[in-house]
Amino acid sequence: MSRTVLVTGGNRGIGRAIATAFVDAGYRVAVTARSGEGPEGTLTVRADVTDSASIDAAYTQIEAELGPVEIVVANAGITRDTLLMRMSEQDFSDVVDTNLTGSFRVVQRASKGMLRAKFGRVILVSSVIGLFGGAGQANYAASKAGLVGLARSITRELGSRGITANVVAPGFIETDMTDALPEAQQAQYRSQIPAGRFASPEEVAKVITWLASDDAAYVSGAVIPVDGGLGMGH
Ligand code: NDP
Repeated sequence: MSRTVLVTGGNRGIGRAIATAFVDAGYRVAVTARSGEGPEGTLTVRADVTDSASIDAAYTQIEAELGPVEIVVANAGITRDTLLMRMSEQDFSDVVDTNLTGSFRVVQRASKGMLRAKFGRVILVSSVIGLFGGAGQANYAASKAGLVGLARSITRELGSRGITANVVAPGFIETDMTDALPEAQQAQYRSQIPAGRFASPEEVAKVITWLASDDAAYVSGAVIPVDGGLGMGH
């Protein structure tokens, strides 16, 4: 399948695993990175999802080198965890600007081409925390919950044009983001996960390549957990 995919934040962590899975499946793959490079076989473009001009420039480069983006995976994300009482407005707005507004910017830029092609796959990387909530994560949870409304509105607006929009909600995945948690906190989280373990980034990537495939053409507006059962009951 030689469609063109863009993965934001494809230089490390889950985004890098997603980009690798698409390369292995035969797609043309571009990744955005603020630093470093995407995996072998990808086109790396510099972009910051908080800056529309840099996103536009990245798309222009991808369109010239790989053709219009048909599949977009909005994966770039940050945390600024702290208790509500101590959370500054800057902590809140920085996280929302990257995780939610950043996804909006990236997806909106792709939508024109998708409408023209009458085909598109929008995949937003949320988190179990989006619907579960997280103490010390009001900013992050709000930004990740917002992605559900974004995907569902895109589904209603563009669903009749061959475009699907879905949310993938990972639980705890072994990346720099979770490595940064103290060991005691990691053990406490692990004890709450029915699967009894964190997942590898590749386990998230496999769900995402499936969502991008023709087999998932009738799946839209869904929130797909990849969390070992942690968030059951959402
Ligand atoms: P990492 O911290 O390992 O990587 C984050 C990625 O986002 C990096 O590629 C980073 O690029 C990119 N990024 C951050 N800010 C920006 C920005 N302003 N513009 C462009 N790129 C940016 O995170 P993970 O791989 O763990 O997480 C990936 C996604 O999965 C995130 O959205 C996260 O919220 C979500 N997630 C992760 C979970 C986990 O357990 N790890 C669980 C649930 C969801 P750079 O290196 O250049 O800064």
